[in-house]
Amino acid sequence: MITIALSKGRIFEETMPLLAAAGITALDDPETSRKLILDTNRSDVRLIIVRASDVPTYVQYGAADIGVAGKDVLNEHGGQGLYQPLDLNIARCRMMVAVRDDFDYESAVKQGARLRVATKYVNAAREHFAAKGVHIDLIKLYGSMELAPLVGLSDVIVDLVSSGGTLRANHLKAVEHISDVSSRLVVNQAALKLKRDKIQPMLDAFAQALIK
Ligand code: ADP
Ligand code: MG
Repeated sequence: MITIALSKGRIFEETMPLLAAAGITALDDPETSRKLILDTNRSDVRLIIVRASDVPTYVQYGAADIGVAGKDVLNEHGGQGLYQPLDLNIARCRMMVAVRDDFDYESAVKQGARLRVATKYVNAAREHFAAKGVHIDLIKLYGSMELAPLVGLSDVIVDLVSSGGTLRANHLKAVEHISDVSSRLVVNQAALKLKRDKIQPMLDAFAQALIK
């Protein structure tokens, strides 16, 4: 059995065409089904639906053989025990620093102010501000980072942005680009050795589908 870990939403939707290219189709839709283990058209392949940030953990421990995870998530996890053969170029967005419309970020940085940074991405935020020589107090959040500057929890946020619509709707502006984010295929290293006859053809099919 080959187990593939995916998260609901963008990653699931954008991974489906790649799985189709490898001859794999899901028999249930995670948006409408409450099942956490989804059968596929192949009796030897199943999908498990996990939280995006949990995908590397399932693959690291071998509970899933393969997974799809954002670079944001992989950077926070550390990637131990994971083989990362392919950038799938899906679920693309940018990791940005954002502040309230009325906050003068440039001046605050120039003056050497200590910034309160709210984010889910503590590693990325720490690395970014350390490289700039900006002192920060990190406030770990698990979601809805956009709210933090509006209610005085933080001066800035580090978050993922695609259209910028959520920032605008909350009177925030992006002030710095940290990195481009897309999702990568991750594979358990032991599984790749033990089940190479099944896993390698899938990796080849994904790689082929990306070229097209
Ligand atoms: P969570 O389970 O924490 O709510 P999300 O649904 O926000 O996770 O995001 C899951 C993954 O999708 C992220 O790890 C990231 O790689 C990607 N992603 C998040 N936000 C965006 C976005 N605005 N545009 C494209 N991809 C995104
Ligand atoms: Mg979400």
